Amino acid sequence: MLVSPGDPPERPRGEPTLAWFERVMRRGGGFRYSRRLVMGSGDPTERRRKLATLFAEAEACTACSRMPGHPKTLGPQNGSVEARCLVIATAPGVEGSAATGVPLRGDRAGTNFERLLASAGVRRERLFITNALLCPPRTEAGRSRRPRREELRNCSRFVSGLIVQLAPALVVTLGSTALAALEQLAPHGLTLARDAGRPVRWMARWLLPLYHPGPRAMIHRTWGEQRRDYAMWRSLLED
Ligand code: SF4
Repeated sequence: MLVSPGDPPERPRGEPTLAWFERVMRRGGGFRYSRRLVMGSGDPTERRRKLATLFAEAEACTACSRMPGHPKTLGPQNGSVEARCLVIATAPGVEGSAATGVPLRGDRAGTNFERLLASAGVRRERLFITNALLCPPRTEAGRSRRPRREELRNCSRFVSGLIVQLAPALVVTLGSTALAALEQLAPHGLTLARDAGRPVRWMARWLLPLYHPGPRAMIHRTWGEQRRDYAMWRSLLED
């Protein structure tokens, strides 16, 4: 369901209240979802502590047998723990976060991403950026490959952990893999081809599906269209 971008989801400053939660649940269609996944953990000190635990769990994770021993791209370098906007990209690229340790930095996708952010006036330091898959998926020959469904399922616990702790008012997905990863947490029914650039309500917050800023996405979404998408993103952020 497309909703007006002039109606951003409410989130109280400081501690979320039960009244606020019940209000957004009424608007969002009832108690279908985990209360924690919608509200977040509330207390900032507790949030930092739990995020640190989540980062440590990710670093120690060996759930995917084809990805042993990779350093994980999840930690304070991903962005602000006060961010109201969570960005989910695909997976660490060879020249990107697999090399720099920071999602969307170091490769052409990262350069495009920062140019698009700048064109819309979105400040990167106000975001928390992660990948649907925290380890880089590689073929036996060491080349990048598409993430497998079971790998996305394994890694979805870190995406849901970030949503619980950050309680973002806006989630932005970059590419079809990130959109599919969210579908595993709660159905949204979106497709990138049909819904790119259109904000919808999901889990009592905004969800904005966008194309990945890598060079190949230009085949499906021109630079001008992506600039308009990022302008939409800016309109959803609070000042
Ligand atoms: S991709 Fe995610 S679930 Fe799989 S081993 Fe890496 S951190 Fe763990």
